[in-house]
Amino acid sequence: MLRRSCTLLLLGLALTDLSAVESSTDLSSLHGEQATELKREIAENLKSGMQYRRLDIPLRFVAYRLKKGEHFFDVVTRLSQDPDTLASLNSLAHPDELRAGEVILVPNARGVFRDPGKEKGGIAVSVMKGSSALQFDFFPGRRFEPRERDFFQGLVFRHPLIGARQSSGFGWRKDPIHGRHAFHGGIDLAASQGTPVQAAESGEVIFAGDKSGYGRTVLIRHEYGYITLYGHLSKILVKKGDRVKRGIDIGRVGKTGRVTGPHLHFEILKEGRQRRPVFDVRHR
Ligand SMILES: [Zn+2]
Repeated sequence: MLRRSCTLLLLGLALTDLSAVESSTDLSSLHGEQATELKREIAENLKSGMQYRRLDIPLRFVAYRLKKGEHFFDVVTRLSQDPDTLASLNSLAHPDELRAGEVILVPNARGVFRDPGKEKGGIAVSVMKGSSALQFDFFPGRRFEPRERDFFQGLVFRHPLIGARQSSGFGWRKDPIHGRHAFHGGIDLAASQGTPVQAAESGEVIFAGDKSGYGRTVLIRHEYGYITLYGHLSKILVKKGDRVKRGIDIGRVGKTGRVTGPHLHFEILKEGRQRRPVFDVRHR
């Protein structure tokens, strides 16, 4: 049986062909009746969505909370969904980003969800996730571009300091300066003062200068909403507006900003949020 839920309300659709959408549910398990029904709808919508850009079954979403030991790909395979659909809807930067206890939205159709208004021809969708309303243009039947999939699969970013030891990881930790529990939005890589730092991927330098706490910092914008940040540099070798190639030297390791010793603080951001850095295994 489908259970109505207050936690996830579909607000409405701007385009008329899917105006019937209104229900939403919490999915309690990746097995069982609810999951089977969802899979059936996904299969049904797959036939119509790609060809006619309308869905035989009105679009609806379920919210699933990952259980211990479950991974993004368990949700994908158990529900016969597509990784690109779930990645774009949930704004994931990498398959390993979701952790047990976190909620993933799953639609009853495959396709790609884009930021509103970026591209014509999509179906405008508004959906609640927790207390935030998410807006998208939905393109039924579509998949990621190959390059976009490379980003998602962690095949793009080269390590900025190949061979360096990671001295501090991403996530909650005891802050090395004030000792309190604090979120670390990147990784720290230990290296001696002056070691060259390389661009993790080609892109445009959007910031090169002093940034509070980060000291001398470089930010590079890449495709698909990804940005890399390099902090605590002793020297910056690029300037704002430069187009840089993957692997070129952009600065040198230092201890500017709020630090206890020389190291590189490196971040990957997507859509303005700090993400757990993942590197191309060929360049760790
Ligand atoms: Zn750091």
